[in-house]
Amino acid sequence: MSLIQCPYCQSTHVRQTDSSHANANYFEQLQRCISPTQMALFGMQLAKKAGFPPFTGAAIGVVVGGVLVIVSQYCYEKYYSNAEQYVCLDCQQQFAWAR
Ligand SMILES: [Zn+2]
Repeated sequence: MSLIQCPYCQSTHVRQTDSSHANANYFEQLQRCISPTQMALFGMQLAKKAGFPPFTGAAIGVVVGGVLVIVSQYCYEKYYSNAEQYVCLDCQQQFAWAR
């Protein structure tokens, strides 16, 4: 029997929850925040201030934005691929438990 404890109150009365929906929302929000269009606009604004041609700034913005999304997805998947979401039945706190 695996003993999973709540990190908040040390209770073993925990229940596994389905977190796939929450994860999908997380990525939707992330990609909305770091969309190529917005990164291109951001790069153009920076380029204007720094004296670069706007096109160069836009290209840099898209590349930087793409790298940010890939890196954050990699970190997220690496951290959560072996983890499962649980909710404590005693204090109602949610936590991830890596097996
Ligand atoms: Zn608890």
